[in-house]
Amino acid sequence: MEELVNLDNFYLTARQHAKDPHNMGALDKFNGHAKITGPCGDTMAFWIDVQNGKIEKLSFITDGCDPSLACGSITTCLAEGKTVEKAKAITQKSILDALGGLPEDHEHCALLAANSLKAACENFEKKVPAKTDSTKNKTCETCGDSSCSAAHQKEDESLEEYADRRKLQTRLCRIQHKIVVLSGKGGVGKSTVAVNLATALMLEGLRVGILDVDIHGPSIPTMLGLEHETLQGTAGGLLPVELGNMKIMSIGFLLKNPDDAIIWRGPMKMGVIKQFLTDVEWGDLDYLIVDAPPGTGDEPLSLCQLIQPLDGAIIVTTPQRVAAVDVRKSISFCRQVHVPVIGIIENMSGFVCPKCGEITQILPAGGGRKTAVDMKVPFLGAIPMDPAIAQSGDDGRAFIHHNASSPTAKLMQDIINKIRALYKTKN
Ligand code: ADP
Repeated sequence: MEELVNLDNFYLTARQHAKDPHNMGALDKFNGHAKITGPCGDTMAFWIDVQNGKIEKLSFITDGCDPSLACGSITTCLAEGKTVEKAKAITQKSILDALGGLPEDHEHCALLAANSLKAACENFEKKVPAKTDSTKNKTCETCGDSSCSAAHQKEDESLEEYADRRKLQTRLCRIQHKIVVLSGKGGVGKSTVAVNLATALMLEGLRVGILDVDIHGPSIPTMLGLEHETLQGTAGGLLPVELGNMKIMSIGFLLKNPDDAIIWRGPMKMGVIKQFLTDVEWGDLDYLIVDAPPGTGDEPLSLCQLIQPLDGAIIVTTPQRVAAVDVRKSISFCRQVHVPVIGIIENMSGFVCPKCGEITQILPAGGGRKTAVDMKVPFLGAIPMDPAIAQSGDDGRAFIHHNASSPTAKLMQDIINKIRALYKTKN
C-alpha cells in the first residue's frame, strides 16, 4: 500500500491514522486558522471552531507524508473538546505518545502538528481576546499597561498557571526589545556576536541586558571577565551582575561545576531555564540580548516560547556550505515559533592576517549569504576570523570596545548598525 510506505509494521496506531485520517479537510465555519511549514518543508494547516471556550470542531490538512497525516489526525483527536489553553499545551511528546511512537526521522512531524495547532489557537486568541471578569480593567503591576498580557488571566488558565506566567511577564514587559542569538551548532561565534552586540548598544548609551542561557557552554562570564562573580539575591529574585550600563546574567553563574548541566535530563533543563528566566530582576532595559543554547531542540524552543514577545532572532553561522543545513533548520525553527528572523551573520569568513591585516579566504566563503538569499531572509554581513577576537574573548574584554579602530570591529559595527536601524524609530 503506497500510503503506508514510510511506516513499518510496528507503528500500528500511526498506520491506522495515516490510512484513515480523522478530521481531514478545511472547516466551513471556524474562528481560528493557521498554516505553517516544518523543518522538512512540509506544511500543515489547522482550522478550529471554538464555542463556549472549548474546541467544538477542528480539522487539518497536510502536504506531508504518512507520518504527517498520522500526526495531524491524532492531534485533532487529542484537541477535540479541549479548551484553547489545553490544546495549546499539546506537545510533540504528547502526540508521539498518543501514536505509540514514530520512526525517529519522522518525529519532527509531531512537532509540526503541535505547532500548527498552537498557531491556530493563537490566531483564535488574537481574534477573540480572552478576558475573565476578575481581571477586567486591570493594569500590569510593573509596566502599568492594561494591554500587557501580565495584567490578565487567560481564558481557562488556572490561577496557579496565571501566577507563574505573570511573574515572568512582569519581568519581561519592562524590556523594550528582546533579541535572541541562535546558531545551528556550538562554536560558531554565537556568544561572540551576543557580547559584541550588547556592548555596542551599551556604548551608544542604551540600557542593555545580556542573558546567557547556553546551558552546555555558558561562555559570556569568561568573555566579559566575570567568571569569578557570584550572584546577589534579593527577596524578589536574582540581581544581574553590572558592567557599566550593561546587566549580565548567565546560567554559568549558577553552575558551581561546569559539568553540572551535562547530567541534567531534558525536563530538568527546561525547569532550570524557566526558573532562571522568572527569577532575574532586570528592571527597565532598552535591549535584552539572549544567547540561546545551540541547535533547534527543546531548550531553544522553550526559551523562545517563554520570552514573549521576542522582537527577532539573529542566526550565526560559518561560511562552509555544509553549515547551510543548520541555518535552514534555524530559519524553519524561527518560523515555527513565530520569531521574525532579523538576519544571518556569517562568522569566521576569511582570515585576518595579524601582521598586515589583509583578509584571506582560506575556506570557500559565502554559504551564509547564499542561504539568506535562498531562504529570503536578510544577510547582515560577514565577520572574518581574527585572532584578536579570540584573544579578547580569552582576556575577558569585549572586542568591539577594545579594538574599536580595527577593520574587523568596523565590519562588526556595520552589522550592528543594520540591527539597530530596525528599532531606532521605535525608541
Ligand atoms: P558559540 O557561542 O557559538 O559556541 P563562541 O562565540 O563561544 O561560539 O566562539 C567560539 C570560540 O571562537 C571562542 O573562543 C571565540 O573567541 C572564537 N571566535 C568566535 N568568532 C571568532 C572570529 N571571528 N575570529 C576569531 N575567533 C573567533
